[in-house]
Amino acid sequence: MSTGTLTVDLNALTANWQVLAAMSRAETGAVVKADAYGLGAARVGRALARAGARTFFVAVAEEGAALRQALGPGPTIYILSGHMAGDADMLGDMDLTPILNSLDQMIRHLEALPAHPFGLQLDTGMNRLGMEPSEWSAVREVAVAQDPQLIISHLAAAEDTGDEMNRRQLALFREMTEGVDCPLSLANTGGVLLNKAYHFDVTRPGIGLYGGRPFADARPVVSLDIPVIQCRDVAPGEVVGYNGTWMAQRPSRIATISAGYADGLLRALSGRASVWADEVRCPLAGRVSMDLIGVDITDAAGDPKTVSLLGPDQTVDDLADAAGTIGYEILTSLGARYNRRYLGG
Ligand SMILES: *Cc1c(COP(=O)(O)O)cnc(C)c1O
Repeated sequence: MSTGTLTVDLNALTANWQVLAAMSRAETGAVVKADAYGLGAARVGRALARAGARTFFVAVAEEGAALRQALGPGPTIYILSGHMAGDADMLGDMDLTPILNSLDQMIRHLEALPAHPFGLQLDTGMNRLGMEPSEWSAVREVAVAQDPQLIISHLAAAEDTGDEMNRRQLALFREMTEGVDCPLSLANTGGVLLNKAYHFDVTRPGIGLYGGRPFADARPVVSLDIPVIQCRDVAPGEVVGYNGTWMAQRPSRIATISAGYADGLLRALSGRASVWADEVRCPLAGRVSMDLIGVDITDAAGDPKTVSLLGPDQTVDDLADAAGTIGYEILTSLGARYNRRYLGG
């Protein structure tokens, strides 16, 4: 096997969904945009549907169409980007529910698919998607008369329990939806964890399902094992990798492993992360290349056949911290070359 193996534990994933669901009286949805954060929307979606999820969220209509094919009829699939020009046939044929973000989208939707269900997004301060308070007050009566399935807004800082913005967004969402008789949704993973006031009728966890922060009690879902291509001895003073940024301080043994930044192992990890050979921590040696990484295996028991890059010893968030990014980016960067293996589900 020349490429790494990415293992997705679908039992851990559904357990995470169930724990988040048990925290709330709301219906718990599932955000599976960007191919379920890189882990495979079809397999992830089917596992969650079997566990009881009935409401899914994706970013764009094409993702929704692929998910509908995987799930079959029944579950609601919301499209967060709304109704984009040219999407009417796909939305109609694949029974996808756009979450309309503007008056323009609302007009487009009502003209192209008059009887087709839709949701609405309100902007409560993030200034990314959704209708602003002024736009909303102008269209609110007409929009609500068309019977939206769900009205959502999105929290900008839910993972930070102390951020003032959470309470401001909650207050504005309440104000904008006051007296509206329609299911409401505000909470992403961080919002579920904040407190019940944020839950409303439907929650929208993403990262927590996949084992990432801020869901501290999440079960890890992903592991990544990379085969070793070659091992060599390196004498003190010799360097490893592009630009010789790592120099042996002792007689060392270097393994070259079969993955690199083209596989989502960001170059920023150079010199900052480790892999594990059985229980032994082996620091990266030198720069991460496109398809290869050097690893200092001097302390390992012998030459390993494979090393672990993600797993019990190093989580998605550990790797994100090492690279100066967030778990979301690590997961969605994982490349297409890995063998994907699904456990359970
Ligand atoms: C991505 C996204 C979510 C999920 O957020 P997590 O932080 O991954 O739980 C929920 N709602 C919207 C609108 C999103 O874009």
